[in-house]
Amino acid sequence: MTADLLRSPNTVLANAVDDALDVLRPRIREAAAERIVFTVGTQINGRPHIGTHLVQSLAFLIAEHARDEFGIDATVDFTALDNAPAKTISHDGRKCQLTYHHQLADHGIRALVTKHYAPLLDAMTRHTGIEYAVSTYTEQQAGPEFRAEFIRTLEHLDEIRYWLSPASGTAHIRLPCSVCGWAEKYADRTRLLELDDSGALFEAVCFDHGRYEADITPLGGGYIDLATLYRNVVKERSYPSDVAALHVMVKGGDWAPGCQLVDGAHAAIGEAAGPLPLRIFTPQILGSDGGKLSKSLLREAADAGLVMEGSPSGWLLDPSDWPGTHADYVNALSGLGELMLSNPRHFYRSYTTTALEALMTTRQPATSQSQAHGRPRNIQIYKQYFDLIASGEKTVEVRVAYDSMKRIKVGDLLNFTCRDENCLTRVTRVGRYRTFKEMFGTEDVKAVNPRATEAEQLRAIQAIFPAHKEALGVITFEIERVNPDE
Ligand SMILES: [Zn+2]
Repeated sequence: MTADLLRSPNTVLANAVDDALDVLRPRIREAAAERIVFTVGTQINGRPHIGTHLVQSLAFLIAEHARDEFGIDATVDFTALDNAPAKTISHDGRKCQLTYHHQLADHGIRALVTKHYAPLLDAMTRHTGIEYAVSTYTEQQAGPEFRAEFIRTLEHLDEIRYWLSPASGTAHIRLPCSVCGWAEKYADRTRLLELDDSGALFEAVCFDHGRYEADITPLGGGYIDLATLYRNVVKERSYPSDVAALHVMVKGGDWAPGCQLVDGAHAAIGEAAGPLPLRIFTPQILGSDGGKLSKSLLREAADAGLVMEGSPSGWLLDPSDWPGTHADYVNALSGLGELMLSNPRHFYRSYTTTALEALMTTRQPATSQSQAHGRPRNIQIYKQYFDLIASGEKTVEVRVAYDSMKRIKVGDLLNFTCRDENCLTRVTRVGRYRTFKEMFGTEDVKAVNPRATEAEQLRAIQAIFPAHKEALGVITFEIERVNPDE
């Protein structure tokens, strides 16, 4: 149904990936990670709009998909970027700003997150079984890893300053005045006076309180508010060198050009302590003129008396105006995200608000796939196995017994998908085993894969799922093909 509404063109990646998350596979194969942490950052500046909600909900759906696809535990880290400017003023031709943290303090930021962000994050945890943690930029910059890494980057300031600030070469190191909390936006009067292993001494100017010094050390010395590119460089370098966790940044598609600059800075500084995180870019939401959906732009246009042609519905800008329950909204949003993830062509592209509205409101306001009766659950599968299922030769599908798999019962519909093709099946029997070896002792080897011996299959499957995943148990689904028109 909804899939019929959606036609997506080929992309650069068209012939390289079967699945949007295949871009993570090289690192997953080499890293031997036991878990993946998907980090999604959001500027805390008032009510989120649909674009923000889409990135956040996709972080959970991507994590769920990665867990099922790669057999690795996955969680979401939500970072509240509370260094977003809450107030900006001009003083003697210089812009000065006050962050949300300095305006609202920690408890105010927590309250904002609880009010505007937690409802969707909690709902996505219920929907996907993926747990999340909340942290703030303020907490990150206060941590010794971040501060020590920042101090290390200062040794290379001359090599990186044009990567961080290509126009002027002045890295925006905002060190807010300890009296009033304001800082110069472009920090062009902030000077590094001394730098050694123990820390960095800066001089800066407050429009109200004059010159002041900030002595930044790994354990103290005041707030570090870095502009976006610099913040990402330091953040990406300060992940602990913990080989058990693979970090992936979930970013809106408009981040792609900026990453070249971040990578330039990384290369100029040299190797980080741990592996740099991967990044995955989510679809952008565009207004009717092709510009990124922006509440402030629309507001400016309205204030200027300009009528924006094809202005998006109110709920796209303020999801609390969605004409239905919050649960319906979460289902529509999740359905949209699942559709995007069902095919790399649907993922590596942008969507206009018009397309988004059609996709979200045309879907059945139904329950999640795992709870729905009679509604098929989509399962992506590689081409070679897809063809064997479609031809009726493969009648047993094997998975690790994640919770999402354990919810599947006899009679449920499984829709196997591969690129644009899909094959609808019904579960006729569910098998549970302690190990893959035990499973092959009972299941018909030829029904799992008619083209490989038991030994070959066992080797292949154990290469995909390491022992600690196999320890979760093994689940098999005997399936029969179903005519979708029935
Ligand atoms: Zn001041």
